[in-house]
Amino acid sequence: MKVLSFNESKEITYFGNCKLQCNAVEKCLKLQMLDKAPQEVMISSYDRIYIRKSNFLCCLDQQSGIALVIILKTKESCEQIFNCVLKAKSHQPQSSNAVINEDELFKDTFYVPLIKQVQLHIQGYQELKIILLNFTNSLDFDERFVYLNILTDTLLIVAVEKNETCLNESRIGHYSMRKRSLNNISYKESDDESDESLPKKSKSSAFVKQPSAENSSIDVVFDIVADIIDGKVVKKLLIFSSNERKQCYEFVFYRGSRVYRCIGCSARQKSNVVKVVIHDDGSKTFEFNTIKKHICQPLDYLPENYRSSLILKSSNFELFHRPIRGTIRPVLIIFDPDNRNNFYKFYFDSSSKCFCCSDCRKEGTLFSARFIQHNGIKTLEFGFSQHRCQPKKNISQEL
Ligand SMILES: [Zn+2]
Ligand SMILES: [Zn+2]
Repeated sequence: MKVLSFNESKEITYFGNCKLQCNAVEKCLKLQMLDKAPQEVMISSYDRIYIRKSNFLCCLDQQSGIALVIILKTKESCEQIFNCVLKAKSHQPQSSNAVINEDELFKDTFYVPLIKQVQLHIQGYQELKIILLNFTNSLDFDERFVYLNILTDTLLIVAVEKNETCLNESRIGHYSMRKRSLNNISYKESDDESDESLPKKSKSSAFVKQPSAENSSIDVVFDIVADIIDGKVVKKLLIFSSNERKQCYEFVFYRGSRVYRCIGCSARQKSNVVKVVIHDDGSKTFEFNTIKKHICQPLDYLPENYRSSLILKSSNFELFHRPIRGTIRPVLIIFDPDNRNNFYKFYFDSSSKCFCCSDCRKEGTLFSARFIQHNGIKTLEFGFSQHRCQPKKNISQEL
């Protein structure tokens, strides 16, 4: 059993082995700090706030701000001690009736400070790192997700703070060298959009927080599909004439022209286009306001006429940020809609400004995705490829 104590500034003042005694008479926990010489005893009275999460028993003294995390070997032993405290508490008058949000308190007072401390004290905090990771992995699937998100977000903030310090300390050379070595690995999109409007300057930001993808208007009903014209696979943008999706105008993407052109209007020598813009953050937007009045007639929409839609019709994805070789990088997880335990991992490729399936890359296939806005919601548009890889199964190992 271990105990960790935070002072009011949320800095770790002790982390080490301990011996615990529940003292029913004095209504407190007595924690003997075994790694302190000479040994000391910490007292945590039952009138403090106690929260249990998995194998962490946390107590907070609201007045002093001192917080403890008692790290038990198992959830069960943690529950036993927690119940013992609860039982004793139920016999004493409650000092405050204020309702506390345990999840918020746990996050703000224990979990986030713990991550920050681990991150700031890289040396000698290996054991704590493992404890933190095991704890996060021990949570139920949904909760694990929430806490993995908090973990990555906190790491991001700490890393940015650290990088800023590095820059202030004139270590710019070191930092950019690391960045350059990462950017050496570049992959080009070969199958679909290499000619779309990629800005010439390839200055990429160090990380992408949350790509935004706002089209010029949100009320255009559309789909992106793969189709074959003259034996070649092309991307078609279908713009429906009404919400019922009975009829549509077909726009086809022309390499080099950076626009989708209405096929019907083009056949009648009229240019009618939708401009596409690819952004540095891996998102893509459509400028629908460039569409003029069609001189062509809409076609009856028959889904079987097209190969497949390239738009993910769900929100089965999640964007994380995690340190990869010293730099915070976005990692996109796309879940199998039939089984959320299965997923694919996409890395951000700053040269192509898209996310690419990491395992397909190893197989030599570029399976890409970009953020788009569809039906007013942020989702993903894929390239033409199919996954050649098998979905991954254990998300906690991957993040
Ligand atoms: Zn037209
Ligand atoms: Zn793949």
